[in-house]
Amino acid sequence: MLNLKMYINGEWREAINKEKRNVLNPATGEIIAQAAEGTIEDVREAIQTAKEVFNSGIWSDMPAAERASYLFKIADKIEENVGELIRLETMDNGKPLREAAYDIADAAACFRYYAGLITKPDGITYHVSDPIQALVVREPVGVCGLIVPWNYPLLLSVWKIAPALAAGNTIVYKPSEVTPLTPTKLFQIFEEVELPKGVANMVMGAGPVVGNEIAESEDVDLISFTGGTKTGKQIMRAAAGNLKKLSLELGGKSPNIIFANADFETAVDYALFGIYAGSGQVCAAGSRILVEESIYEKFVNRFVERSKKINVGPGNDPNTEMGPLVSEEHMDKVLRYIEIGKEEGARIVCGGNRIKGNGLENGFFVEPTVFVDVKPSMRIVQEEIFGPVVVIEKFKDENEAISLANATDYGLAGAVFTNDGAKALRVTKKIRAGITWINTYHNTYNEAPWGGYKQSGIGRALGTYGLDVFQEIKQININLQVEPIGWFSKLITK
Ligand code: NAD
Repeated sequence: MLNLKMYINGEWREAINKEKRNVLNPATGEIIAQAAEGTIEDVREAIQTAKEVFNSGIWSDMPAAERASYLFKIADKIEENVGELIRLETMDNGKPLREAAYDIADAAACFRYYAGLITKPDGITYHVSDPIQALVVREPVGVCGLIVPWNYPLLLSVWKIAPALAAGNTIVYKPSEVTPLTPTKLFQIFEEVELPKGVANMVMGAGPVVGNEIAESEDVDLISFTGGTKTGKQIMRAAAGNLKKLSLELGGKSPNIIFANADFETAVDYALFGIYAGSGQVCAAGSRILVEESIYEKFVNRFVERSKKINVGPGNDPNTEMGPLVSEEHMDKVLRYIEIGKEEGARIVCGGNRIKGNGLENGFFVEPTVFVDVKPSMRIVQEEIFGPVVVIEKFKDENEAISLANATDYGLAGAVFTNDGAKALRVTKKIRAGITWINTYHNTYNEAPWGGYKQSGIGRALGTYGLDVFQEIKQININLQVEPIGWFSKLITK
């Protein structure tokens, strides 16, 4: 069994009170690791370390190219350890090996992207009034608190860690208490590449304890959080004390709009991918499929037929197409939503149960589940279920599709399937969401901004936008004619 420790000031440490938390394999229910359960004292120490190291300038004043060289080395090491990282991610989160392989490759690419970006020109000069030369420079924000969920344990961590470090910040990072395995491996890599001590600190533990302290501490300058919308609101309140900079990547209930003139099999195929990838535990999941009336029955039949054929099983079986949910607690939440849907009067046409046979009884497996006969006001239409549960709604025309698509508090993602190019763009522009796709789903690139409208978040990760989050912007005005201004000269008595 693995014994996972925290990493503070370059040292591997147990929690001060020696508490541990069991980490489970969601495919088997077995305990695979024990992780240090951090306390408020542990996190305070990590924050003080990060503050001192930031102020020392050892990292923040290091030439960008030198900082970048660490990031390149980290990317190389991720690739050298790709097999182990994939195995750990699958064991801890449950996702199939092929999904974990994408995540690990993306994580290495993300470090390389920000290593490259930080060495590119970033200043601006303005011709203002003579004799002043104005310029704008970017500087690190300071101590950054980074808090992540369990659905992409390594990748979402890297989306924050890579730009934060590239920009010259020091970090206090908290993985999800459910998935600390690949984060631990990443910090081992930091040690191997000899990242200066105290630049990157990892504290494990409960959100309301460790996470809340990071959000509240007056010594943390910025918080970048990915997780549920409810938690995001709590963090926003906790962060108000010292008016931290905030970046929030929150939940979603994303519409996938399918018009009658779409390529039918392509639309069905991407709709399956949209909801069942990651067992539906993806913030941008296409959890509301909206289908034009004339093809509705045909679409539902085909979608259900294909949903039933999905090979659900342990992630480490190469034949598995969909893995378990991440934990028993989360599985129970998803099963409760299925009950709520039934009570609300929606009709299940596929799945709806925990999977118990085929040696899966100890894991947290739920069948691909499809609801029809839903109303926009139902909780299963409005709330994020975060599991392999989809609702299929019917629309008459373009206007109704747009109005249904926008009828939730969320605004993370959305997709449109049609072979009419103008319609595709027209409808996409009306979707109130930050990430959209036309005739595709789930594509995510390190180069392009990721984030939500409405209650799906504040700010953007990835791309140049993802670096902006971790930088302050300073204007410098230089007087090129150094002589007195003479503003108060009349008052000068000679
Ligand atoms: P969560 O909000 O329960 O937890 C996320 C992280 O916050 C965990 O590390 C947790 O320990 C910590 N936390 C919990 N309470 C806290 C508190 N009071 N103060 C500080 N930290 C606290 O979310 P989850 O269940 O781990 O993840 C699922 C959610 O994440 C979904 O809503 C999903 O949509 C969202 N998500 C969003 C994106 C995005 O990019 N928008 C990406 C992935 C996941």
